[in-house]
Amino acid sequence: MAAAPRIAVVGGGISGLASAYYIKTALPRAKITVLEASPRVGGWIRSTKVALPSRTGSGASKGQDDGPIVLEEGPRTLRPVGLQGALTLDLIQRAGLQNEVIMIAKDSPSARNRFVLHNDRIEKMPSGLMSVLFKTWQSSSALHGIVPLVMREMMRPPRPLTDKDDDESIYDLVSRRFSPDLADTLVSAMVHGIYAGNPRQLSVQATFPVLVRAEQQYGSVVRGMMRGAGAMSPEDRAELDKLVAARPEFRDLWQRATKSSIYTLQNGLESAVAALTKQLEAMEVDVRTGTPVTRLDAKPYGEFDIQVGAEDAAESVVADHLVCAIPGHAVGRLPSNLPGLRGAGEHEPAVNVALVNVVFARDTVPDLAVRSNGFGMLASARRGPQTDPALLGIIYDSAATPRAHPAVEAEVVKFTVMMQGDAFSSAQDPSMPERAVTAIRRHLDVPTGVEPVLVRAHLHNACIPQYGVGHVQKLRALRESVGPKVHLVGCGYDGVGVNDCVRSAWETARRIAAGI
Ligand SMILES: Cc1cc2nc3c(=O)[nH]c(=O)nc-3n(C[C@H](O)[C@H](O)[C@H](O)COP(=O)(O)OP(=O)(O)OC[C@H]3O[C@@H](n4cnc5c(N)ncnc54)[C@H](O)[C@@H]3O)c2cc1C
Repeated sequence: MAAAPRIAVVGGGISGLASAYYIKTALPRAKITVLEASPRVGGWIRSTKVALPSRTGSGASKGQDDGPIVLEEGPRTLRPVGLQGALTLDLIQRAGLQNEVIMIAKDSPSARNRFVLHNDRIEKMPSGLMSVLFKTWQSSSALHGIVPLVMREMMRPPRPLTDKDDDESIYDLVSRRFSPDLADTLVSAMVHGIYAGNPRQLSVQATFPVLVRAEQQYGSVVRGMMRGAGAMSPEDRAELDKLVAARPEFRDLWQRATKSSIYTLQNGLESAVAALTKQLEAMEVDVRTGTPVTRLDAKPYGEFDIQVGAEDAAESVVADHLVCAIPGHAVGRLPSNLPGLRGAGEHEPAVNVALVNVVFARDTVPDLAVRSNGFGMLASARRGPQTDPALLGIIYDSAATPRAHPAVEAEVVKFTVMMQGDAFSSAQDPSMPERAVTAIRRHLDVPTGVEPVLVRAHLHNACIPQYGVGHVQKLRALRESVGPKVHLVGCGYDGVGVNDCVRSAWETARRIAAGI
């Protein structure tokens, strides 16, 4: 019998953990080691549970840990859409958390009420054709003139591509097909919400490939979207059907999920990471925290030597396959004799995001919960002179991710403010919480004098990779240059959403299993 394959997974974020899970499921004899630099697994998936501070003190505090109120410091909601959505929910169900899934119905206020902040005004995005028609005549609306733009777009010939890698920015495609105004308003707000980035720099092929497909295959973005350019591919459909048919308990959960717009977990998304890690340990996967990888080398005979720890006390892990579940900028920093790997960081920068959790006592601003009864607001590139220039958006957490502890959560109204991280000098910069609270005051009419009961500010450095124009082509070249036994997985490569990361892990495991 051949020796059991040795697989090293660098990075214990969701991409690394899911890779280990799928590889072990496909190859039960594989010896898998997950190497995570920090003392905890989960990467950007971080949830804390806090207790409210006593109301006798003045001003906001950071609260105490281990209370009943969930605060998310990274992702908070997942979309049950497509094969990638099903894979993530399946993983959550296999980890035993099906009873902790909180589905947000498609007709709930949080699904229907989404706002864009544009020229200092908050505007509800339309949820039906009639409201789109109404907004096209409203000169102050971010959708002003949308109907003629759509009609003209359908008449425009598609851009002739020089080859299949002929990429452009999101801004360029939307400006060309519709108008620069639309690119600067609605589209920039959406890009702030997903990538915290700039649509003038991001590749449309890597971030919204459906727009390219619609234009190229149907001659027009609008026509393409109407005729199903965004529909699942037959291959994905077949895999999804297989997944759903495989286990009745998942089928029921998935059926409920498809009636929802998004979902979250009762105790925060980090509980999924904890449950998955427990499961990996039960499957005899070696998950090592506090183990930074400091060097990656190819050895003769197709093995890899992975150095962990500082130079003077380094240890080696030897593997037959190397799964790099860390973003390109982190891979590119590692010394290595694999020339391809050194190029990984060059084309893929990542943005810094300031994230501030803000909690108000509900009784101090009685109608705040009503005013924030929706998913939240995203700032467009044309924020307006009164709006903080770093503001990316405000998530209305109490409505967007309701928890099943109504008694406790009913006492508070929670928000998460996201701002461009480069506006702040450090994680301790006092202007970070101040500007976050000011943004809530200004845009949600919280009177001065009413203070939040809890504020927690975080500066997440290099947290969302930015796929520049040409990303798809460069990634293909990078994968070719590192060879078939080095696998680049996760947010740095194939999509930044949690679902994308899980799918990337699933595909990697299939490739490894097929090659062994
Ligand atoms: C603020 C924020 C909000 C978000 N909101 C959402 C959302 O609502 N929905 C959604 O779907 N997605 C959201 N995302 C995106 C999503 O959370 C991330 O893209 C995803 O969690 C990335 O997972 P990953 O495993 O690929 O990378 P990471 O989470 O970055 O994990 C990589 C891991 O590798 C470790 N590591 C790095 N270098 C080394 C080394 N040399 N040796 C060993 N270990 C190393 C790191 O410590 C880390 O634990 C959000 C992201 C952020 C930052």
